[in-house]
Amino acid sequence: MPGNIANRVRRLRAEMRLARAAALLISHPPNLFYLSNFTGDNGILLVEADRAVLFTDPRFTTQAGEECSGHHLRIVITRKALLEEAGHSLRTRGRSRKILFEEDKLTVAQLRQARGAAGKRWLWKGTKGLVEGLREVKDQEEISRMRDAARLGSSVMEHATGLVKAGVSEQDLAAEIEYQMRKRGAEGPSFETIVASGPRAALPHGRATSKRLKERELVVLDLGVILRRYCSDLTRTVHVGRASREVRRWYQAVLDAQTAARQAVRAGAEASQVDEAARRVLRGRGLERRFIHSTGHGLGLEVHERPSLGRNQKALLKAGSVVTIEPGVYLPGRGGIRIEDDVLVLDGGSETLTSAPRELMEL
Ligand code: ZN
Ligand code: ZN
Repeated sequence: MPGNIANRVRRLRAEMRLARAAALLISHPPNLFYLSNFTGDNGILLVEADRAVLFTDPRFTTQAGEECSGHHLRIVITRKALLEEAGHSLRTRGRSRKILFEEDKLTVAQLRQARGAAGKRWLWKGTKGLVEGLREVKDQEEISRMRDAARLGSSVMEHATGLVKAGVSEQDLAAEIEYQMRKRGAEGPSFETIVASGPRAALPHGRATSKRLKERELVVLDLGVILRRYCSDLTRTVHVGRASREVRRWYQAVLDAQTAARQAVRAGAEASQVDEAARRVLRGRGLERRFIHSTGHGLGLEVHERPSLGRNQKALLKAGSVVTIEPGVYLPGRGGIRIEDDVLVLDGGSETLTSAPRELMEL
């Protein structure tokens, strides 16, 4: 995606000009990949108005050459600490100037190292979310990768729900899910697979344990894959054996809330309105207080990114963003129900990228 990289760096430079910054130091790996295509696990990117330099170590000489050629990036291979080398390369540049760094990604020690090497003329200023803001709107290449990741996640989910039965342990299910991800071409899971059954399903982030599934239990399966660097994130809740009327009522409430929220997604909608669409349905069924998290989050190179679909989020959704829609209800001691899909924001509507069946499955 050579054209895309140049375009991203151009947009970033416009942001830098607005911030009156002469340079920006990128250390967060997803941001580094986004701006350079480099996937090695040791890299620092320094962007200035007239140059962009990737610093890495000799283990990645060939890889950096292959991944970053044609993107107008200079590559510097060094045996020194990368931040020191990057800082040092600023020493002879210009007069007193401002450099931005990712304040939520760099440790104090790392900052000290880069700063010391750059010398006294540079004014270091922390910034947050500069590249993340650009990443919120996906380009065609990214959307196509996310579609594929969503499709792969959905196929693993359909396989996994087929394995649900009394006697199987949560850990066995999680292991099979992660095996199938790899087997079907994913680089791996985008987060630790959640399998939570019975009372444990009341924990929104229940990790799989040695507990075995039992008759008349709810099972929450929350999984995601990374495929060509992009994440999917998908939840289904199934019931072992026939569900009671009460469980069916809860399930229908969550499903209706999820459908309402998905229908509220469109470019220009306020994030909080999408959250409210789900909350309104659950309020009408007397379940609002059982919904203890926000309705969704952005998705992309990371499994949690901008925008956040919560109660107080005033930001407007942008066409080309991908968000999850995942209302749930949690009943301590009883269990929980969550339904989650990945949704692409479009002008005037949306496209749901994940596809596993949503109706209650009694297995
Ligand atoms: Zn999830
Ligand atoms: Zn999620």
